[in-house]
Amino acid sequence: MSGLVIRNCRPLGGPAADILIRDGRIAAIGQGLAVPPGTPAEDGRGLLALPAFVEGHTHLDKTLWGMGWWRNEVGPRLIDRIETERAQRRILGLDPARQGERLAREFLKRGTTRIRSHADVDTEVGTAHSDALVALRERLRGTMDIQVVAFPQSGLLVRPGTLDLLEGALRNGADIVGGLDPSGIDRDPKGHLDAVFGLCERHGKPLDIHLHEPGELGAFALELIVDRTRALGMAGRVVVSHAFCLGEVARAPALYEALAEAGIAIATTAPPSRPVPSVKAARAAGVAIFAGNDGIRDTWTPYNMPDMLQRAMILGLKNEFRRDDEIAMALATITGWAAGACGFEACELSPGERADLVLIEAETPAEAVVAQPPRRLVLSHGRVVARDGALAM
Ligand SMILES: [Zn+2]
Repeated sequence: MSGLVIRNCRPLGGPAADILIRDGRIAAIGQGLAVPPGTPAEDGRGLLALPAFVEGHTHLDKTLWGMGWWRNEVGPRLIDRIETERAQRRILGLDPARQGERLAREFLKRGTTRIRSHADVDTEVGTAHSDALVALRERLRGTMDIQVVAFPQSGLLVRPGTLDLLEGALRNGADIVGGLDPSGIDRDPKGHLDAVFGLCERHGKPLDIHLHEPGELGAFALELIVDRTRALGMAGRVVVSHAFCLGEVARAPALYEALAEAGIAIATTAPPSRPVPSVKAARAAGVAIFAGNDGIRDTWTPYNMPDMLQRAMILGLKNEFRRDDEIAMALATITGWAAGACGFEACELSPGERADLVLIEAETPAEAVVAQPPRRLVLSHGRVVARDGALAM
């Protein structure tokens, strides 16, 4: 039986307390806890303790992290980005297994223990990226939870053979069916959605669909997704990533209601560059909403960090959150709300929960989001996995 006690930390910024961990779970939280003799102890030094973080939407397979700076000269259209990536991953010799693990470890150092990653599946790389992330998921099992979305980045119907490859990726262990801009890329919204929902039905898998489509085009796609989610009884198993249209159309309130009723969640990156779903409007309507970086240092974007506190800050800025209770919502999009919507274990700071937590040099949760201070200690499954920014495993 493994045990550990963290003395003198401040759970969620409250009064100093000890956290007793047994068999990977929080056994007790309280002041001056009596612990079994010989239990190893960590000095919490009065640091803020938060639940470990969740990355709800990234692309581990395509990051250039650690490969030196890549000069971005990509054209302005979505298709320019897709085509540049297809060419560059050959030229650069991008290894999804190596890159995925590199980035996952960077996430872990900064307190993230659960990641939903999309993985490209197309007629050029086949299922190799998805398979690499499935293998990574297994390698890191017990340290990080990884969900793999088999994602048709280059289009589904426009590239014949891709649907079979998605089937293959799912058979090889991918967790979730991915989709992409049913009108904008495939030019066939009904065909695209029938295909991806069909995969979900045949394989008993959830869906996570990238929807960049603007305005009414995106709203129309959302309605088609709502119809199919309800028809197939997939409440709680469908995520729409981005859904920029919710920040653009006047009838967004009715769309939030429909999403809530269908049990569809929204993943948002809250980029500064375009309108996005409103966290408050989504929550008020009862829609689950959570955060992700999307790509990190890849041919799509030079930006973003494997640091979910930074993502929470960007989301807070975009949503004009100033009050501490608003910034607490930003924190929820990278902790409990994300875990719930993605189907990860919750890991709240309560007895009985899995002991995934972070000790941070901050006074309050809001300060942690705003300043993203150093993570002094990261625990996953009750074990210390990182200390002072370095892995300890
Ligand atoms: Zn994405």
